[in-house]
Amino acid sequence: MNWKPILSTMKPYAPGRSIAEVKRTYGLQEVNKLASNENPYGSSPEVAKFLQSRADQFEMYPDVYTSGLRTNLSKHHGVDPEELLISNGSDEMVTIISRALLQPGTNTVMASVTFPQYAHNAKIEGAEIREVAMLDTGDHDLEGFLRVADEKTAIIWVCNPNNPTGNFLPSHVIKDFLDRAPKTALVVLDEAYFEFVTSAEQGNAMQWIHEYDNLLISRTFSKAYGLASFRLGYAVANKDIIAELNKVRNPFNSNTLALGAAEVALADQQFLQECVTKNETERNRYVAYAKENELAIYPSETNFVLIEVPMDADEACEVFLRHGYIVRSGNLLGTPGYVRITIGTEQQNTGLFKAFDEIITNK
Ligand SMILES: *Cc1c(COP(=O)(O)O)cnc(C)c1O
Repeated sequence: MNWKPILSTMKPYAPGRSIAEVKRTYGLQEVNKLASNENPYGSSPEVAKFLQSRADQFEMYPDVYTSGLRTNLSKHHGVDPEELLISNGSDEMVTIISRALLQPGTNTVMASVTFPQYAHNAKIEGAEIREVAMLDTGDHDLEGFLRVADEKTAIIWVCNPNNPTGNFLPSHVIKDFLDRAPKTALVVLDEAYFEFVTSAEQGNAMQWIHEYDNLLISRTFSKAYGLASFRLGYAVANKDIIAELNKVRNPFNSNTLALGAAEVALADQQFLQECVTKNETERNRYVAYAKENELAIYPSETNFVLIEVPMDADEACEVFLRHGYIVRSGNLLGTPGYVRITIGTEQQNTGLFKAFDEIITNK
């Protein structure tokens, strides 16, 4: 068959270990998955109530226009409904944007390291990938981005806060970058972890979508809203950008139950705020733990930390697994010597630190 040649060099997404598998392999009763940045507090209790009320009527296709969630999001963010696009997780938004803009002869600019789906999709579309090494601080090297971007650059990916470092770029830095980035390139601000940011320097980039007609902001219900299983993301950009992307999107890309669950979750901002507050408290414990034990840690504004381990990252992950903790090895993320840990509940983190103590003692 005539597969795209690039596929022979690619691998499917490698998921972390599952809780069931780790229980079996290590003979454990309790296993905590702190590997995929899911919300350890679950989702708004209103979501479960909503789902119980929807026990039938599954034969109809979802609303193509996604009116309910679209209206609520437009009110929540103060943007026009036509300035929104809803996708099957922000993973699918990356695919939609890449399909619409990338092809052989174009290039796309991103950090190294960052969210791997940008490069993954660019390969499939045959675009050239221009990766710019991150600064020692873990920040995107935006000056470097400007140096490598040219008139053939179709998409610039700014992951803010960045996965897997957790680093956050203040609002004025983003604005300055938008002033200087080529107007012919779509600048995608992937704000999957936006809700977790507690820095006073956080701004609202959505206010700039009319000022910069090459700006798109991507958000998701998977992380702070705790709805990863439903697969719902959305983009905010000016109407012209949304109209083009809408041609590429599959008509029924988000399902009825997911759309309803997201509406309910969006309405419960109190739950969201409680999660953000608890996450910040727990995040500070990781910072303190790293300091006490003289381990490097990137300055996270998210619900995960990228922290140094005093041995090979895969070996450290093995020790965590034996203690019932699934975390992500930096060897897979392009950050050897580090592990990425999703910040759990107070109890989960206390248990994780015990496992970490063993790693430090036995290094
Ligand atoms: C988790 C994550 C996403 C994907 O989120 P989904 O909406 O679940 O597809 C997108 N971008 C970044 C940076 C992420 O970490």
